[in-house]
Amino acid sequence: MTDQFGRSIDYLRISITDRCNLHCFYCMPHDVPLLQHADILRYEEIVRLVRIAASLGITKVRITGGEPLVRKGCADLVRMLRDIPEITTIALTTNGVLLPDALPELVRAGLNAVNISLDTLRPERFAAITGQDVMPNWRALLRDCVQAGLKTKTNTVLLRENREEWENIAALAQELPISVRFIEQMPLGRGQIGKDGDAEQVLRLLRRRWSDLQPVQTQDASAPARYYRSEQLIGQVGLIAPMTHRFCRTCNRVRLTSTGQLKPCLSYGIHNDLRGLLRTGKSDDALREVMRQSIYHKPKTHCFGSNQTDAERQTMNRIGG
Ligand code: SAM
Ligand code: SF4
Repeated sequence: MTDQFGRSIDYLRISITDRCNLHCFYCMPHDVPLLQHADILRYEEIVRLVRIAASLGITKVRITGGEPLVRKGCADLVRMLRDIPEITTIALTTNGVLLPDALPELVRAGLNAVNISLDTLRPERFAAITGQDVMPNWRALLRDCVQAGLKTKTNTVLLRENREEWENIAALAQELPISVRFIEQMPLGRGQIGKDGDAEQVLRLLRRRWSDLQPVQTQDASAPARYYRSEQLIGQVGLIAPMTHRFCRTCNRVRLTSTGQLKPCLSYGIHNDLRGLLRTGKSDDALREVMRQSIYHKPKTHCFGSNQTDAERQTMNRIGG
């Protein structure tokens, strides 16, 4: 469906847990309070909501968290979502730690795409950023994802700690047909606006090595990343600049938090309590109407950078990145 500003909303990001096996310092420090199990939507509840959302035009879903793979049965959820005819794409965002074991079943269940957080290639730095000494073998993991037929992307948050690796991380797109993306810090969790670098800085740095880096002409206008290609890359690099280049004009997404709140925009405290409606026996039609209103009233732009909603803002692990 289209919202009040004529944007076509066809993408739902679903956080299935607020828990994580890592504690990236910018996202989920150790003192983040965790939710009770009963507060989190059951898979059956998520599937019911996605069916209703699909009747309003949602065709793509992304499963995220927290770390989605710490929740048991993530592949079962993929299988259930696969049974919804309107859903054409099911993607997963993960830190990759549990992915090697989970991959075959996820692929069998019908997963189409994966985004993997990759902030560093160095095990000791990984431990310093995440608090856990469990860095995956990135190259093997990415190769396996590609070989399994998944559209594969990586996400690197721009941090002072990984600045010296930006070039080496981008060079993964020289080895593999993947999209290597860099994300400006957002003021969620402990993140601070553009604190440790912005997309323009990354582009300048990468152009020193790949001087022919050019914007991809056939970009999906609703994608938050601007992609660049070079003759020397078999993949591409992407820059996600919510702070320096607002991509709100073409935003096509809404979010379902792990507690069943429909959030039309990541940056605002506003949400609609779908869990409350589900658990008090409301009909599909009633739920659809609430979703329709929420989507229709999606705000025009994000409000990061203002202090308008900071008090109500939640951490990224709860909303779903
Ligand atoms: N655990 C999974 C993962 O790490 O990919 C999925 C959830 S995580 C919240 C999704 C993405 O959000 C990750 O790529 C993470 O780096 C990013 N993220 C978390 N906090 C952020 C912040 N303050 N600014 C920008 N990106 C952030
Ligand atoms: Fe966990 Fe992902 Fe947040 Fe890191 S970014 S703490 S892996 S949810």
